[in-house]
Amino acid sequence: MVHLFRIITILSFMLALVACGQEADRAASSEVTLQTPAVVAQVDTDRIKNAAAEPEMWMTYGGGYDEQRHSTLGQINRDTLPELGVGWVYEMAKPRGAEATPIVVDGVMYVSSAWSVVYALDAKTGEEKWVYDPEVSGKDAAKGCCDVVNRGVAVHNGRVFVGVFDGRLEALDAASGEVVWSVVTVDQSKPYTITGAPRVFKDKVIIGNAGAELGVRGYVSAYNVNSGALAWRFYTVPNPEKKPDGAASDDILAALANDTWGDAGAWVTDGGGGTAWDSIVYDTVNDQILIGVGNGSPWNPDIRDPDSDGDNLFLSSILAVDADTGRYRWHYQTTPRDRWDYTATQQIMLADLPLGDGGGSRRVVMQAPKNGFFYVLDAASGELVSATPFTNQNWTTGEFDESGRPVLMEEAVDLALYAVVPGPTGAHNWHPMAFNPDTGLVYIPVNEIPFFYDKTRNVADSKSIWNIGYDAAAGWPVEYPAGTLAAVSGLDGGTLLAWDPVKAEPRWAVPFPLPLNGGVLSTTAGLVFQGNKFGDFVAYDAETGERLWSHSLVGNAAAAPMTYEIDGEQYLSVLSGWGSVSSLIAGFTYGEAKGKEPARVITFKVGGNETMPAPLAKVVSATPKSPIFGEPEQHQLGMQRFAENCHFCHGAFAVSGGVIPDLRWSAISANDEAWDQVVREGVLEKQGMVSFAGHLTKEDTDAIRAYVIQQAWLAVANGNASAPGEN
Ligand code: CA
Repeated sequence: MVHLFRIITILSFMLALVACGQEADRAASSEVTLQTPAVVAQVDTDRIKNAAAEPEMWMTYGGGYDEQRHSTLGQINRDTLPELGVGWVYEMAKPRGAEATPIVVDGVMYVSSAWSVVYALDAKTGEEKWVYDPEVSGKDAAKGCCDVVNRGVAVHNGRVFVGVFDGRLEALDAASGEVVWSVVTVDQSKPYTITGAPRVFKDKVIIGNAGAELGVRGYVSAYNVNSGALAWRFYTVPNPEKKPDGAASDDILAALANDTWGDAGAWVTDGGGGTAWDSIVYDTVNDQILIGVGNGSPWNPDIRDPDSDGDNLFLSSILAVDADTGRYRWHYQTTPRDRWDYTATQQIMLADLPLGDGGGSRRVVMQAPKNGFFYVLDAASGELVSATPFTNQNWTTGEFDESGRPVLMEEAVDLALYAVVPGPTGAHNWHPMAFNPDTGLVYIPVNEIPFFYDKTRNVADSKSIWNIGYDAAAGWPVEYPAGTLAAVSGLDGGTLLAWDPVKAEPRWAVPFPLPLNGGVLSTTAGLVFQGNKFGDFVAYDAETGERLWSHSLVGNAAAAPMTYEIDGEQYLSVLSGWGSVSSLIAGFTYGEAKGKEPARVITFKVGGNETMPAPLAKVVSATPKSPIFGEPEQHQLGMQRFAENCHFCHGAFAVSGGVIPDLRWSAISANDEAWDQVVREGVLEKQGMVSFAGHLTKEDTDAIRAYVIQQAWLAVANGNASAPGEN
């Protein structure tokens, strides 16, 4: 079947050459073209459009252009689940977070992992075909909010496209992994990064960027797949002069967006945010691109845009633009004048639902963004069909005013140490959801993580490479009694939620004590697959949520599973590992690593009998390696600077999730010279730990060390660590 398709493709290609290749020069150039594409990854827009006819492939990030992540393969079903076992395991070259969904075309798996490394594997055996490492500089790690992750590649006509962490977009030869073209899509002097998967449509490949936490201006860029030439660009927010960029967005920014921003404030210097770092989807029916737009930069709008109370378009919006030109079609802003990091970058899914006149079919856009509302919009017009909270939220009253704007809670605007739900991790983050057309349900990995936003203290004198405009240490005491962190952690959790998008109501929910559970796959066998923080890979009943099967992955799974079939055998793959936002920001709340498990592709099949690698032993002993030193004022300053600069990687309250060193137990923090070499001189820059000397004074960095050691001894006092020599 596959081979037949390939032969037909090549034959029709050759016939086309014969038909139009009369002139000598044209024939010559056609011959060159004929030799260049490898006879692998022969995917084009039409083939992806018809992805439903080839369920044995997984040709694009979301499984098809509609990104429903539902497979009609049924060999893995209730009857065969007991025999589902590991077929093969592939260990990736570089550790850190694993968030990608693999693509499988014609027997080859193309998958990316940390540091934007791309792997081509035999999808039947896991045998490596090639590895491409774009050699991202270690110092670029500091530009990322949430680890050096990559969520996947795109495949088109013999090429593999990858968005590289430092802002490159590259086309690789799918047969060899060699670079065919490479373009820089961002100003690399600014803190832009790319973690999202590119998408291809027609003759274009499209990519966005990230960096709103550090201060950039968001946009998406579409490039010609063959040449890498820029086809169009759409800026999601105005430039500071509110002048044309010479981009597809010029007219609509002038007509709609410019007046929603004032003329001064941090957005003028730092770009305003609105980065599209995850969901960028091709709507084949309406021939448009749907863009999920991110949060404001900085988060606090009183600092971002003090001269206006405008909506700051197109922050936190779903935008529809023409696929060929990039020109504006419609938008829906989920969170006007965002102030809580409520990105609308989350997965955009298209479906035909019985929401039309008289119960007829209507093509809709669905999204469950960070702000906790589930949105259903008409795909052609952008008209709002429904907006319903899918989890607890306290930033709105739950009502909308006559103009369709959410009615805000006063406390969530005043933000004087108010615990807002959802917090910046979102009620739903990048972890993909899935839609089963048979059950009519969307399966959403939901988080419940409150966050203290405080705009009243420590904002003006903050010294942070992060640019949020709130007190980064809000709610952090220097000293806290035993049990505090466990109690805080107990406020956090999540669910796997089955949501009915037609009735706009939940059907069932499986609760988890830990948030940020993995992405989801739905199958026609009535199964929902999801990995979780406990290192389990689980199959649930799609109708009831009953847990039917599970298998240990050793490492944590955040990425979404996918499935494919080769030679009559169905395979089910998921990435596991440790890293990404879930293990960086706070070990105590998101779950501590069992060990620094490497990133792996783990592939299951019926009758698979490979064994999983043994879990790595925990190697770090939780024991202070230096006597306590410093006065309370120094600890207080150290806590403030740690919160502003260090906790995004090393963990809130200095409790690390395990992939990045826990500084409380580090030999480097125990020694003032070693500390200065790392923190001020940047000797570990290659590993991603840059120098902070240009940013923090020696008084600041000394205070951070004093705070870290004080926190180590606090852990001993609270019974969470041993004193030296105790064990
Ligand atoms: Ca953000």
